[in-house]
Amino acid sequence: MQFIDEYRDPALARRLIEELERQARSIGREVTIMEVCGSHTNAIGRYGIRTVLPANVRLISGPGCPVCVTAIQDVDYALALAGCEGVILATFGDMLRVPGSGGMSLQRLRAQGADIRVVASASDCLGLADQNPRRQVVFLGIGFETTAPTVASLVRRARRQGLANLSVFAVHKLIPPAIKALLDDEDIGLDAFLCPGHVSTIIGEAAYAAIPQRGLAAVIAGFEPVDILEGLCLILGQVGRGEFAVENQYARGVAPGGNPKARALMEEVFVPEDALWRGLGAIAASGLGFRKEYAAFDARARFDLAAVISQEPAGCRCGAILTGRLAPPDCPLFARACTPVNPVGPCMVSSEGTCGAYYRYHQREGHA
Ligand code: SF4
Repeated sequence: MQFIDEYRDPALARRLIEELERQARSIGREVTIMEVCGSHTNAIGRYGIRTVLPANVRLISGPGCPVCVTAIQDVDYALALAGCEGVILATFGDMLRVPGSGGMSLQRLRAQGADIRVVASASDCLGLADQNPRRQVVFLGIGFETTAPTVASLVRRARRQGLANLSVFAVHKLIPPAIKALLDDEDIGLDAFLCPGHVSTIIGEAAYAAIPQRGLAAVIAGFEPVDILEGLCLILGQVGRGEFAVENQYARGVAPGGNPKARALMEEVFVPEDALWRGLGAIAASGLGFRKEYAAFDARARFDLAAVISQEPAGCRCGAILTGRLAPPDCPLFARACTPVNPVGPCMVSSEGTCGAYYRYHQREGHA
């Protein structure tokens, strides 16, 4: 297939749905598959994939939305940084409405006078720092392996340009350690991972080797309906045969070895360190700290921030939703106190959040 329309071909999609039915019948037991990618979460809702799945195939969402997995402590630190005198906090738009403790958000802080700017790309911060030499520009570095290389590039360019008024508050997260934490959690009971398309363009196929080693299926898939359905067929094929491997349905986007140049850039600036995830807690070597050569650009070191005492929003079940233990309609606040207009937790804020996707697609269709 060469063109996007072919990945939305209804006849091909129907054939794949029939194949899923056939495979699911032959397996004859419940199969639970987790996707760990916010773009998959959104696409699965948008194309109604859950509505065409066989009754014994359960597709659940995991920690694939970078905004959602950001620990509330880090949201509170970002709020504290934005409140420091002379600081311009630069962020992607997704983070603006994420509630910190007490319901405060960057958006609310901005309404109270804090200088918070939404940037389209990390490199926009170079111009901001250059144009505001008497101010400190802090970039809120969020995202998985897909985003981290662009932030590493920002830091490297800032050092080359001698920008002393630019730093990064890095809360990046790495997907393979999170998958390992999910594999170690026997309560979740997974059969397979639908592996992320975008992150895989950087980390490649070998990064998921732990999944088949633990007797689960692993398939990297793209984001069109035919991609996802074909990815699910490949997963059921592995489960049915009882033979597990990392398969790549998304070969048009993901090279087997990923993108070594992007990884090298990331590794030049950052080093893996322990990180706190919403829903998953502390995971060893799952975040990115600064190498000593670039430590001057670490906002945590540049600003003397007091320790925060954080509190999750009352009643919010994002932690359980991010590990697939609950679905959004299981949260008593879903579509009542918590909506995209008045989000209580991060999973309702982000376009990639599970609660937001359920609200947009399933809730409206009445099959939550
Ligand atoms: Fe949190 Fe709202 Fe989702 Fe409930 S519906 S888990 S309150 S984001």
